[in-house]
Amino acid sequence: MAAVRTVTRFAPSPTGRLHVGNIRTALVCWLAARAAGGAFMLRLDDTDAERSREEHVEAIRADLAWLGLLPDGEVRQSARGALYQEAFETLHASGRVYPCYESEEELAVKRRVALGRGLPPVYDRAALRLSADERRALEGGGVRPHWRFRLEESAIGWRDLVRGEQRFEAANLSDPVVRRADGSWLYLLPSVIDDIDMRVSHVVRGEDHVANTAVQWQMFEALGAPPPAFAHLALLTAADGKLSKREGAVGVEAIRDGGIEAVALLALLARLGTRDPVVAVARAEDLIANFSFDAWARAPARFDPAELARVNGTTLHLLPFSAVTERLPAGMDEPGWLAIRPNIERLLEAADWWRVVTDDPVPPALDEAEHAYVVHAAEVAATVEWGDTPWLALTAALKAETGRKGRALYLPLRRALTGREHGPDMAALLPLIGRERTLRRLAAV
Ligand code: GLU
Repeated sequence: MAAVRTVTRFAPSPTGRLHVGNIRTALVCWLAARAAGGAFMLRLDDTDAERSREEHVEAIRADLAWLGLLPDGEVRQSARGALYQEAFETLHASGRVYPCYESEEELAVKRRVALGRGLPPVYDRAALRLSADERRALEGGGVRPHWRFRLEESAIGWRDLVRGEQRFEAANLSDPVVRRADGSWLYLLPSVIDDIDMRVSHVVRGEDHVANTAVQWQMFEALGAPPPAFAHLALLTAADGKLSKREGAVGVEAIRDGGIEAVALLALLARLGTRDPVVAVARAEDLIANFSFDAWARAPARFDPAELARVNGTTLHLLPFSAVTERLPAGMDEPGWLAIRPNIERLLEAADWWRVVTDDPVPPALDEAEHAYVVHAAEVAATVEWGDTPWLALTAALKAETGRKGRALYLPLRRALTGREHGPDMAALLPLIGRERTLRRLAAV
């Protein structure tokens, strides 16, 4: 048998912006597809016309583009009604979907009665026992049916790529509603129809979908298709509990506006909750080679913004000039970037360090001995051979003449030249500050 092509799909409902939890799902879908040379698809689960919004569809596309997780194709559930109708008719003909007439209130009463008797609140299938005449009478009275999928009473099991062996008894599950009385679709069945039609080989999603998989497993079988592989990722937790879309602070927009690089977020999310350490990378593609579902743990992982900030710093220290050029302060060139890169945790801090190069500092308060030393340094700086390594030339000359070394040699110069105690390597900064500004700043103390 020919090997099945790996096809994954990221299937957000466009009811809000992407957040850290579903970005991780998107990333794992992307990694699994890219690692296998397969396809990564975006599927917009927009069957809920009330809650789905076009602005969210656009934001999801834009967020994926910013992240660099570009889909190989996109499908929208709202455009696929004919496909769903066809599968629905197949299931109707084989008796796997059936019409139900209970109102929400009646169903709530049934659930309460079952729970009162200490039974699981499983739908009692009363609608299956209605005669054709009873159904006609209900419909004649204006009741439009909603539709349930009839589960077969058997054990359902699969080996989840993350959670290992999974087992459910269909008898403990309610026949799920798949279509509303107004003809609109609920998520469960269209998802299966799409997964079959799109030849999805791996369904990657959050563990909150595990019970859905049990019923969807039977839907695949009822439609005559082998179920795909499933990987249910453990949930991400925030320091204070579950992450959700409502937490704006972990939405893509907030992360980007907070100065986080997309590739830093991806590097963290590719390892959080796996057995592998987080390693910063310069490009998302660098995460593909080591991808394996085996690395993912079942236990929830904690998302920590402080860790993200650290990974962002290490990421920036790796990024070449070409990766950041358009976002750098005006005038900052490649040597400028390479000098400043090791000192920043967020790109926006580059502007601050660049001012150290371009703007003369307020002369620092020096004690008498330091003052005399810097005044002397101004004279020496005027005479040393500037060349490619002026800092080395200047400090070597000053060391020889004054006998100063270490902090005493360097710090007064740094303070006079940059106005600060710490900062990028002076050897890298001085050629950027240039001879003229150097002489002026040393003489200004
Ligand atoms: N739209 C569903 C969700 O966002 C998709 C679940 C799935 O991947 O099948 O939870």
